[in-house]
Amino acid sequence: MPPAQARELHRLRFVTDPLYGEHLRGVAHPERPQRVEAVAAALLSRGLLERTIAARDATDEEIARVHTGAYVELVARETRRLKSPAYLSTGDAVVDASSDRVARRAAGGAVAAVEACVAGKEAVFALVRPPGHHAEPDRGMGFCLFNNVAIAARAYQAAGGGRVLVADFDYHHGNGTEAVAGNGLSYCSTHAYPAYPGTGARSYRRGDDLVANVPLPPGGTSTEAFVAAWETLLPIVAAAIRPSLLLVSAGFDYVAGDEVGDLGVGVHAAAPIAAAIRRVADEYCGGSVAYVLEGGYGIGALTESIAMIARAHDGRPQSSAAAQPDALPRSVRESIRTFSEIAKEAAK
Ligand SMILES: [Zn+2]
Repeated sequence: MPPAQARELHRLRFVTDPLYGEHLRGVAHPERPQRVEAVAAALLSRGLLERTIAARDATDEEIARVHTGAYVELVARETRRLKSPAYLSTGDAVVDASSDRVARRAAGGAVAAVEACVAGKEAVFALVRPPGHHAEPDRGMGFCLFNNVAIAARAYQAAGGGRVLVADFDYHHGNGTEAVAGNGLSYCSTHAYPAYPGTGARSYRRGDDLVANVPLPPGGTSTEAFVAAWETLLPIVAAAIRPSLLLVSAGFDYVAGDEVGDLGVGVHAAAPIAAAIRRVADEYCGGSVAYVLEGGYGIGALTESIAMIARAHDGRPQSSAAAQPDALPRSVRESIRTFSEIAKEAAK
C-alpha cells in the first residue's frame, strides 16, 4: 500500500508521553499506569499508534485560566515532597511526588491535542493521565488534579478560537467542567445519577452557552439506549451552539464490568458514538475534534473502545445513522426534550 493511502486510513493521531506512566506507579489504585502504558502498547501493535504528537507541560498561564493560584500552589506543596502516596487535601485524589509534574503534562497533552486537531482539521486522541473532568477551579477530586479539557478549551480560545463544545460520555458527571462552563464553553454529558460526584441533574443556559445533562439510572442502561442518547443529544446541542471545536471527555468506565463505573453498556457502543462525534466535527468544526482520556479502568475495554474510535475516524466516508429515539427510556427522552427547548431558546 502506498504511504499516502496508508495515512488516509489512519486519521486518528495520538498524544502520549512516557511521563504519564509515572503518577501512582507501584500504588494499588484503579487509576494506574497500565491504563496508558498497556493500552498504548496494544494500539501500537495494531498499527494505530503512528504519527504520535509530542506532549508538553501546560504553562502556569494556561492552568491559571481554569484553576485558582492558591489551588495550583496547594498541588505543588502537597505533592512534591511526598515520600509515600497520600490523599490530596481537597478530595479523593491519591497523589505521589510525581503527580504535579504528570498532571501538568496531562493538561499540556490536551492542549497539544487541540493545537494538532485544529491545525490538521482532524481527530486527535490525548492518551493522558491523571484524568481531569472532576477537577474544579479550587479543588482536585475523583482522581483528577487539573481539568485537562477545560485548560485545552481555554487555550484554544486564548489563541483566537471560537466556541467549544465538550461532550462527556464518562460514567461519571464532569462536575469540574460544568463548573467552568460559560464564556464560549458549552458542556453536554451522559452520566449515572445519582452517583459520584452527585452533580448533573439538570440542564440550563449559562449566558450564550449550554449545559446539557442527561442523567442515566445508575443500575445500568442498554447499549442501544446509551448510543441513542448520544446520537440524539449531540446534534441538538451542536446545532444550538455551532461550535468551532469539539472536545470529548472520553471516559470508558460506562462499559459493562468496569471496576469503578459500569453502566452495563457493551464495549461496541464506542463505534456508533464516535461516528456521531465525527459527523458533528465534520459539520461544524471542519473535522477538528480532540478526545481526552478520562476514566475507564479495564485495559481491554479501553483498548477496544479507542481502536473503534480510530476506525470511526479513518478515511472512509460514513453514512449518517438515524438516531433511534424508541430505544430511549422515558426519563432520558424527558431530559432530552428539556434541553432541546433550552437549546432552541439559546439558538435564537
Ligand atoms: Zn469516570
